[in-house]
Amino acid sequence: MEELISKLKKAKTVTVISGAGISAESGIPTFRDAGGYWKNHSAETLATPQAFAKNPKLVTEWYEMRMQKCFESSPNEGHFVIAEFEKFFPNFLLITQNVDGLHTRAGSKKMIELHGNIYRFRCTKCKQKIQFEKPTTENPIKCKSCKSIMRPDILWFGENYDLLVLGEAYMFAKRSDIIFVIGTSGMVTVPMQIAMEGINAGAYSIEINPEKSTIHKSISVSFQEKSGIVLPKILNILKSK
Ligand code: NAD
Ligand code: ZN
Repeated sequence: MEELISKLKKAKTVTVISGAGISAESGIPTFRDAGGYWKNHSAETLATPQAFAKNPKLVTEWYEMRMQKCFESSPNEGHFVIAEFEKFFPNFLLITQNVDGLHTRAGSKKMIELHGNIYRFRCTKCKQKIQFEKPTTENPIKCKSCKSIMRPDILWFGENYDLLVLGEAYMFAKRSDIIFVIGTSGMVTVPMQIAMEGINAGAYSIEINPEKSTIHKSISVSFQEKSGIVLPKILNILKSK
């Protein structure tokens, strides 16, 4: 505990990597926990370019259902604390795997949404994007410019990351004093590789997850507890500076 407090107080550059678990207390199901199935389809099969090519209407309907769910949810304590971190650490970056927009609604600004955003669609032909303010049931969604079909602006299984964004994430992690790994199982490997980039370069690492992530063994200190419980305690330590 003493080491944690001293690391938190000294840290200048901090990366937070968040996953679906941080939004669990807002009522949004994680991928692999209960609720990962919809109309007998698993998330792993729907979140693919193949599924969209085969049945765009079904995939669009699934995303619109999830968009509705995200819209009805509210950020929780965990999201709010992470937004406050920006005030305490001079250099800060939140790298989220979440697409639910809750970090933004909690006030986070220094953020990379690694896997996209559920409110955004992009044209399959001219790549133009559209950002919805409210849930839509339009299906299919047609591009205003070229009338082609639009797809969720989400990174699906089997697709490539934006290399510029990825480069920024790796560079930031590498020069971080602390890496937080919050609410992620680690089953998606790239975000964990980003975390490991920082850890291997000497960052102190803090995991918050009721269960162990795939990189648990490399972590400096683990809190096997909900993020909405642990993060306010971390904030209290920072405030007691
Ligand atoms: P995951 O579902 O694989 O893992 C979720 C993790 O959160 C688990 O390890 C679980 O133990 C933990 N967890 C559950 N409740 C928690 C709590 N209250 N506090 C802290 N941790 C808690 O999620 P992932 O690792 O993010 O990977 C899944 C992929 O699915 C990501 O690529 C993401 O884009 C996508 N996804 C996003 C959302 C969202 O935007 N909210 C929801 C589901 C899936
Ligand atoms: Zn278009």
